[in-house]
Amino acid sequence: MIKKLVRKTCLGFEPYVAGKPVETIKRELGLKSVIKMASNENPLGASSKAIKAIKENIEKIFFYPDSNSYLLKQALSKRYRLPAGNIFTAAGGDEIIELIAKVFFNPEDEIVYSKHSFIRYGMAAKLMGSKAVVVPMKEGFTHDLKAMAKACGPKTKAVFITNPNNPTGTYNTKSELSKFLKDLPENNFEVKPIVILDEAYYEYAKIEKDYPDGLTFLKDNQNLIVFRTFSKIYGLAGLRVGYGFANAAIADFIERTRPPFNVNLLAQVAAAAAIDDLEQVKKSQKLVKAEKAFLYKEFAKLKVPFLKSAANFILFNCAPLKGKEFFTRMLKEGIITRPMDEYDLPDWVRVTVGLHKENVLFVEKLKKTIR
Ligand SMILES: *Cc1c(COP(=O)(O)O)cnc(C)c1O
Repeated sequence: MIKKLVRKTCLGFEPYVAGKPVETIKRELGLKSVIKMASNENPLGASSKAIKAIKENIEKIFFYPDSNSYLLKQALSKRYRLPAGNIFTAAGGDEIIELIAKVFFNPEDEIVYSKHSFIRYGMAAKLMGSKAVVVPMKEGFTHDLKAMAKACGPKTKAVFITNPNNPTGTYNTKSELSKFLKDLPENNFEVKPIVILDEAYYEYAKIEKDYPDGLTFLKDNQNLIVFRTFSKIYGLAGLRVGYGFANAAIADFIERTRPPFNVNLLAQVAAAAAIDDLEQVKKSQKLVKAEKAFLYKEFAKLKVPFLKSAANFILFNCAPLKGKEFFTRMLKEGIITRPMDEYDLPDWVRVTVGLHKENVLFVEKLKKTIR
């Protein structure tokens, strides 16, 4: 049987459960109108600068893309004032997680991350056959950075921190993160473990009090990798572009081992244009801030417990319904949400903040569903 040939770590591997696409739901349920509030996409759509760049470059797609994403790295370098040698790019933050795992994780290594944090870290550890060390959250569903530093031992190769976290929307403050980086003990290799700071929602969170910009810690922490994505605030999830910052040696190993053409031609030009679209960022921040306030108020009125979020989604508790049941009922009403079973939160659902009229419709269907 073919199973004999499959790597041990891939046997029994559970696939990632993605948010369902609108067209799939329309087809499956025979619905005319469906709103997706499941995958934290930007309801304002893609950056207009990105769309323009794609139109201008569409005829060039018979060429392979620039293997080094030169222009995109230059744009990132200029925007974030870091040398291009400290920057790497990939097909989404998702590929970045996997590239880091491929460079650093051995089967004898331990990988530390928080319970209820992004599911892809555990999957990366599992893929490489490394041991996952999962640390419970603090009250209020934030990463317990003190406990995470304590959980690091001689075998710890890497620690993942999501700031703000998906799916809870919570974040760790500048002083908490700073203390964590200092307190992290050295491992068997006589260095501190690699710290991977996932800032997929950085642009939404940066307006929060004491939210730390991970890049400011790079200089003093040679073990730190910070990564972000064009999928969220820039509205380019369908293109698949992510980027990371690290010391030159780390960036070099990731660059060497990645697939040569991982960021496609249109994705490169679109991302390079989008990074300077501060209009898109401002408009999205403003919408999400106002709409979160609206949704918080509505959740409170309905006595639905929820977590305040620094990102563009809200986690709420739908008990006595199970999240899956809530999801199925909302689907029939034409709204795609995200149940949280894989995150060990079977009574919770995550909803992406939509346009105002979408949020109003969501609240209307929520009332009907939980009644
Ligand atoms: C969305 C997300 C990512 C990466 O998304 P890509 O589309 O692969 O860039 C990474 N981490 C978290 C926590 C996310 O929510």
